[in-house]
Amino acid sequence: MTVSDDLFERARTLMPGGVNSPVRAFGSVGGSPRFMVGSDGPYLTDADGKDYVDLVCSWGPMLLGHKHPAVQEAVHSAVDRGLSFGTSTPDESALAELVMQRFGGVDRLRMVSTGTEATMTAVRLARGYTGRDLIVKFAGCYHGHLDSLLASAGSGVATMALPGSAGVTEATAAETLVVPYNDRAAIEAVFAEHGDSIAAVITESAPANMGVVTPGEGFNKFLLDTAHAHGALLIVDEVLTGFRASDAGYWGLSGRVEGWTPDLFTFGKVIGGGLPTAGLGGRAEVMDHLAPTGPVYQAGTLSGNPIAMAAGVATLTHATPEVYAQIDALSLELQQAVSGALNAEGVDHSIQTAGNLFSVSFGTSERGVHDYADAQAQEAFRYAPFFHSMLDSGVYLAPSVFEAWFLSAAHDDVAMQRVYDALPAAARAAAAATPA
Ligand SMILES: *Cc1c(COP(=O)(O)O)cnc(C)c1O
Repeated sequence: MTVSDDLFERARTLMPGGVNSPVRAFGSVGGSPRFMVGSDGPYLTDADGKDYVDLVCSWGPMLLGHKHPAVQEAVHSAVDRGLSFGTSTPDESALAELVMQRFGGVDRLRMVSTGTEATMTAVRLARGYTGRDLIVKFAGCYHGHLDSLLASAGSGVATMALPGSAGVTEATAAETLVVPYNDRAAIEAVFAEHGDSIAAVITESAPANMGVVTPGEGFNKFLLDTAHAHGALLIVDEVLTGFRASDAGYWGLSGRVEGWTPDLFTFGKVIGGGLPTAGLGGRAEVMDHLAPTGPVYQAGTLSGNPIAMAAGVATLTHATPEVYAQIDALSLELQQAVSGALNAEGVDHSIQTAGNLFSVSFGTSERGVHDYADAQAQEAFRYAPFFHSMLDSGVYLAPSVFEAWFLSAAHDDVAMQRVYDALPAAARAAAAATPA
């Protein structure tokens, strides 16, 4: 028994599944989760004193690596001024300005504490603004755990192979229309049938919660044009991709080039640099429908918390073009190393990308992965042995094949060499895997 095993035994008697977020439980890869007690740069340290090169980065936020000196210092100094005031603070405006400098079309921003709150509020705002009820979402996209968007969701819902969630009423589920990703005909059909009742289409800027899926060329622009032609809004969820796929998220790589800007963006993860902060932003005309200027209510005791604002401002300030260039280059190198190792063992696979975000899927080289059905049809059984081999070699991957691989600016040559050295054995384990 390791210390982590002991801690998990105890946690299981105290919390459902021993965890506070489902995929942390290692359910799809087996074994017991590592309990982490420390971090530094590209590394996590577990309760047994073993360190891991972290390729999860707290599921995205730690873009600069763990314990980045400037972020740590900003947080320490904010703590010294007090933990929460329950009032407006100067750093809220500083963070809003940093977001607006990067993303086009954000005239107003409202801070919340989690990505779920951001998308929940965006959905309510779209309904309040349009006076319509229906929301269109894509199968395999994850937007947090709000009732109306759990149908055919990605992330843990995909990992656990659930169709949706118990506890969501039929009435709520009926107000969400789920269509296959990258499928223009399905969008046209849903608007042809329900066009004047649809409040909004919500999409991940590039899906990264069913593994990464690359949006077809012009797909987001098509969504915007179709929604607008029917008086509906487009909500682009950049909670995962924002400030990570580029300085302006996936929109920076796609929207800026193809010429589309949604009515509303949602942000999370990197924007808080590891503390609980998220936000939604967009056109003033839409955003000003939020209270206190408008009739759509939304509030939060800890919204814009000063410690979280300090972490967010410091993180975005230090997320320079050099940081993105470095992560982009590392990502390419890692993709090639993973592919090379898998090819050497004859493991059929494909790699999907959205800027520096990528994921690996097994048995998919012929079709690629264009939607949730493709992602679900992969040889997912190869992932558990691959994951555990990497873990044994001191590399921490997401405990689910449906997640992206995350790098940071702190992943140096020494850390990456450990990853590269670990890959051949992991590829052999994947090659030897058989369906359960
Ligand atoms: C993580 C995520 C969310 C939910 O954010 P939480 O902070 O976990 O509530 C929403 N949308 C996307 C695209 C995400 O990746």
